[in-house]
This record gives sequence, structure tokens and C-alpha cells, in this order.
Amino acid sequence: MGFSTKAVHAGIEPDPTTGSLMTPVHLTSTYYQEELGVNKGYEYARVSNPTRTALEKNIAALEGGKEGLAFGSGMAAISALFHLLKTGDHVVVSRNVYGGTYRIGKLVLNNYGLDFDFVDTTNLKNISAAIKPATKMVFIETPTNPTMEITDLEGVANICRKHGVISIVDNTFATPYLQTPIELGIDIVLHSATKYLNGHSDMLGGLIVVNRPDLNEQLRFIQKSVGAILSPFEAWMCLRGIKTLPLRMDRHCSNAMEVAKFLVKQKQVKSVNYPGLTSHPQYRLAKKQMRGFGGMISFDLGSAEKAKMFLKRVRLCALAESLGGVETLISHPATMTHASVPPDQRKKTGVTDGLVRISVGIEDVEDIIADLKQAL
Ligand SMILES: *Cc1c(COP(=O)(O)O)cnc(C)c1O
Repeated sequence: MGFSTKAVHAGIEPDPTTGSLMTPVHLTSTYYQEELGVNKGYEYARVSNPTRTALEKNIAALEGGKEGLAFGSGMAAISALFHLLKTGDHVVVSRNVYGGTYRIGKLVLNNYGLDFDFVDTTNLKNISAAIKPATKMVFIETPTNPTMEITDLEGVANICRKHGVISIVDNTFATPYLQTPIELGIDIVLHSATKYLNGHSDMLGGLIVVNRPDLNEQLRFIQKSVGAILSPFEAWMCLRGIKTLPLRMDRHCSNAMEVAKFLVKQKQVKSVNYPGLTSHPQYRLAKKQMRGFGGMISFDLGSAEKAKMFLKRVRLCALAESLGGVETLISHPATMTHASVPPDQRKKTGVTDGLVRISVGIEDVEDIIADLKQAL
């Protein structure tokens, strides 16, 4: 089955009691049991819910993994993954990860005796060098937020297998339509479903896909024990969003390519980060492991003042956090998504004060470009 067919059909079956073609939103906390030990596979809704199950099966099929697990937000999914660890364990993380991932590692879980090292994973040697006996996990993001750095997925999978370390990829930016890390040997993929998967900026959710039965069993246990599950209504919204994921991603990619080409020609723009530009330092790697370059771009206007002025002037492009919705969103990473990253760490990773991030929407690209032009 092709990707678009799976997006529409995987995990979704007509309701056995009514024939309802669309997955019902099962608003129940508990399930009737005919007698002790006799039920239809559902007992309590924190453990499982049919609407959530449909989404979990759907995302597993799209990522080419065995099992899916749905959580109340991307951070709830990331938190569940770090619950696989014990005091004293060490994690190697991409230096440019989502600000929230940095925050939970450095400012929350450090207090529980977990140790996080943030390294430049675009060079695989840095990963090998950072792995020590206590290392249990390598957690990467590719492309990274917001500087669009690319990490070699197959290379990471090989290093992790060699050291017996769990490999995790935050696939939020690429989505399974453009990149399937499990097929390249990665153990676990996670998503902020809030972004492209749902795609309409109207819910929060997190998804995990695993390919190893042992990890699935541990994560199911964590999911019901910690309890940060996705609600049935949000599961339903996300399922509906995913049906059009391929169509939306094609448009996000083509619009972003045009916007990136426009930006490189503007004299006010010092640099543009987009993996689809041949000038991107890892253009060839992106081309090899991705089926498209995505809808995210960042560019440097030189100073905080210039960025601030530009962001005040945009009209169609909404100044807002988040990304991956049908509408174009624009943001200032240094003071928004990455505010909890210390300034010296930000500077090291290219999150400069003049950096602006744009999540290119599916509007007519001429209108997006016209807005950027007047704002510049
Ligand atoms: C937004 C985001 C998250 C966090 O997800 P939430 O749904 O906001 O909790 C994690 N990783 C990436 C790459 C993100 O963009």
C-alpha cells in the first residue's frame, strides 16, 4: 500500500456496532465487562481507548514501525521516553533540539540524576566520542529546530546498535511522508503531532512509534503508569488531519522552496537555512535520506532590532509559536521557542538574535512572498 492510501485507511475500520465509516470518538472512562475477565479488550480509558488505538495503528503504519503510542503532547511523549532511564544514566542529544527537550533534560530530569550531553550530531564522530558506559540513549532531531541541521540517520542507527544504545529520532519537522527513520534502523520515532501530523493548529498531541517489542512493552507500561495520554477527541482530530498529510506536505515543500529562493536574493537577509538549497552544507545528505525538504526555513536579519521590526511588519504571516499548520507562522527563536536555552549555548548553535523562523503554510506562495517583501 502506498503512503497516501495508508494515511487515509491504516488502523481505521467501520464501527462494528453501527457501521459508522469514520472512527467514533469514544467518550468513556470505563468499559462494561460481562463477567470477571470477559471484555472486548478495553477495561479503562487511561490504558486504552478505541479512538486512540486507531491513531496509534495509523501512525505505526506510516512510520513503518510495529506499534504506536499516543500522548497528550509532544513533551508528554518525550517525557515518557526519558522514563525508560534510571538514575545515573546518560543521554547524548543533538545540540540543536527543540527548546522543550533541552529544558526537560537540563532543568527537570537533571534533578533526578539523569545526565544529558548536547553535541553537534551532524558529525557522527561527536556521537561516538560522547558515548560512555553510562550512555543508554542517543536522541536526535533532523532537520533541527531552528537551524535546519541534518544528521545521518543510518549512521546514528549503526553507532547505536554497535554500542547497545537506544536510538531516538524526533521526526516532527520531516513527518513520515518525507522521512522514515525506522526504515533506516532507528529504534524509536517520536512526533509532536501538534505540528504537521494534525496540521491545522487546533490541538496538542504526541506520538511514539517503536519497532522493538521490548521497548513497546516498557513504553505501554509507562504510558498507563504516568498517564499523560491523548484524549479521544484529540486522537480523532489528529486522524482527520493525517488523511491530508501527503497533500499538505507537497504544498509545504514547494512553497518553502520558492520562499527560500526568494530570501537568498534579498540583500537584508544575511543567510538562509533550508536543506533544499544546494548551498545548505548537508544538501546531499538531506537529498539522500529525505523525500522532500519540508516547510521550515530560518534566516538571519543581522540583529535583534531588525528581526523585531520585520516581525512587527508582517501581516499575512502570523507572529506565533508553533509550526506545521496550514497557515504561515513566523517566530523569533531566541526570545520564543529557545528562550530557556542560555545565551552562550544559543550563540554556539547558531540561534542568533537576528534569526527568524518561518513555517511556510499552504497559502498561495505569491501572497506569502509579497508579505515578506513588504516587511523586509
Ligand atoms: C513542538 C515540538 C515539540 C513539543 O511538542 P508539544 O506538542 O508542543 O508538546 C517537540 N519537538 C519538536 C521538534 C517540536 O517542534
